[in-house]
Amino acid sequence: MLLRHTPEEIAERQALTINPAKTCQPVGAMYAALGLHGCLPHSHGSQGCCAYHRSALTRHYKDPIMATTSSFTEGASVFGGQANLVEAINNIFTIYAPDVIAVHTTCLSEVIGDDLTQIINKAQAEGKIPKGKRVIHANTPSFKGSHVTGFSAMTQSMVHYLSECTDRTVDQINIIPGFVEPSDMEEIKRIVREMGIRAVMFPDTSGVVNSPLDGKFHMYPKGGATVEQVRSAGDSTFTLALGRTASLAAAKLLDTKCKVPFEVLDLPIGLRATDSFVDTLRKTAGASVPESLMAERGQVVDMMSDMHQYFYRKKVALVGDPDQLVSLAEFLADIDMEVLYVVTGTPAGPKFERRIRELTGEQTRIAQGLGADMFRFHQFIKNGKPDLIFGNTYAKYIARDEDIPLIRVGFPIYDRVGHQYFPITGYRGALRLLEKILNAILDRQDRDAPEESFELVM
Ligand code: SF4
Repeated sequence: MLLRHTPEEIAERQALTINPAKTCQPVGAMYAALGLHGCLPHSHGSQGCCAYHRSALTRHYKDPIMATTSSFTEGASVFGGQANLVEAINNIFTIYAPDVIAVHTTCLSEVIGDDLTQIINKAQAEGKIPKGKRVIHANTPSFKGSHVTGFSAMTQSMVHYLSECTDRTVDQINIIPGFVEPSDMEEIKRIVREMGIRAVMFPDTSGVVNSPLDGKFHMYPKGGATVEQVRSAGDSTFTLALGRTASLAAAKLLDTKCKVPFEVLDLPIGLRATDSFVDTLRKTAGASVPESLMAERGQVVDMMSDMHQYFYRKKVALVGDPDQLVSLAEFLADIDMEVLYVVTGTPAGPKFERRIRELTGEQTRIAQGLGADMFRFHQFIKNGKPDLIFGNTYAKYIARDEDIPLIRVGFPIYDRVGHQYFPITGYRGALRLLEKILNAILDRQDRDAPEESFELVM
């Protein structure tokens, strides 16, 4: 009973977060930067910040995450971090030879007020950035937003610094995949390939943070969108932004900068959201849906109907990132589960709440942004117990105390593996989710069944 002191009674809080339901902006910025081939993320702040960002990603992916830091000490904290960053840029290009350095700010460098555009220009003017190499940056103070908004800011920065528009149009579409796993990015690309569509996806962490062990050290693994691909995104015919919170800003900027029209879709998690993704691809790229995808879809529908009796009226509580929560809520409502609570520490705005209500009904209790933390999520659960919890590793304490099965989705997952390799997006991902849900429900039924009802066939 680690959380035995959580009271049932909910008091209004304004200036206190207890166990946040999010991580800090730079973690998302670092993750996005890794989705650019040959890119070295750089944390402009103290070593402690960078160590935390790297360890969060390393623990989640079980892969060493490379990143550098401006190594602020007292001097930089007082006089600003310009000298540190200019020297860091010089050292990094000399020693590690990346194609791109992606700098994100931290709480400290933002409070000091370091002007990253000016510092990068100074490094350029002093010849610290070799020809053909790039330095990009995103402002990611962590006293606002979350890892999702940090991801969004770095993706936007890729468009700002790297995308170019010429007067020719390239027969390709852009896909901005949102804050999803490398396995999900790979699955989204596979669906696009199956439909015979040419696409540029950025960021793309597949083949970077889930790369194979081959006995050699690769400072820059094979995966990731190349600078050339992101450059050509300005000449694409269309952009599909998956997930409003993580992807809208970059798609909007590409439209403003290069007049590439865009559409925002929910993350393709679950049947309906994947249908919508496939249908939008079909319409915008003038492609047809191949038999192979139709067969995958049919398998999802088959499992939904075969096992519907186990899903029906089960109560669920969700905590995580807004874009994933929207699609998950839709999928769970579609299989006739009752969504009791939806909590995200990311400030996702009124549209998020409206969308969740549309999907799950007025009875769902929603909390987002400031004050929407694991403590509040636990209090909700104490006021009405769900049958299942969906959330990241931190939800395991609540799940254990309340004796409720936990289905791990989202970020971070430190205590299980699989998310790196097996997607939850697309039709295959929907099947995997259904399997996870069913296994949790049936394991619990087996555990609690009296001897006379302990079934062999379920
Ligand atoms: S100080 Fe700010 S940027 Fe650094 S780890 Fe903490 S929350 Fe993140």
